Amino acid sequence: MEDSKSILIVEDEAQISRFLQLELEHEHYTCTICADGREALNLALDRDFDLIILDVMLPSLNGIEVLRRLRLEKQTPVIILTARDQVVDKVTGLDIGANDYMTKPFAIEELLARIRLHTKNSAHTQASSLYCGKLSVNPDARTALYDGHPVDLTKKEFDLLLYLVQNRNTVISRETLLDEVWGFDFYGNTNVVDVYIRYLRSKIDNKFGVEIIQTVRGSGYVIR
Ligand code: CA
Repeated sequence: MEDSKSILIVEDEAQISRFLQLELEHEHYTCTICADGREALNLALDRDFDLIILDVMLPSLNGIEVLRRLRLEKQTPVIILTARDQVVDKVTGLDIGANDYMTKPFAIEELLARIRLHTKNSAHTQASSLYCGKLSVNPDARTALYDGHPVDLTKKEFDLLLYLVQNRNTVISRETLLDEVWGFDFYGNTNVVDVYIRYLRSKIDNKFGVEIIQTVRGSGYVIR
């Protein structure tokens, strides 16, 4: 087992840091969370993180100042998080040595891509998830998240969801799903597919108030 990459999340909004932690751990990163600027600077100087996600508006020491002091000693990759209208911070951040910046609210997929880019130097690559809107499915970890919330699935439910996401936006017949997910040797009728689609809907669509698993009458199912 290779070491997972470590990320320091510096963010004082608990909802955002919790969301980031779930998404990053889902991608096999190890996360440390810090909600205070001064504390974050000490952590970043003491330990060698592979990357730091740094909010700008923070208690005790703002993100720009944390970065400025960090850069006097270390070149740990830093991605700055700014609120939509903080253009000044963005410019200042890049000027004093941020590697990248993201504007809140951000698309997690884009942030993950930038994290991969800036942690590339380390030896191994992260297993990447498949996305369908706010749903992400990680084939290696066999986990699914919806908008940062874990979706608890049985083995078959996961297999079915993974197949649908791998073929997102494509209508798949019950017969194909039965063959691909249950196997050609499965004895039974296609009703089992409908039953499992219902399970998935109750755990995703109904739970999060969305309609991503859709029935196409006479044809089958599609996720979009
Ligand atoms: Ca903040």
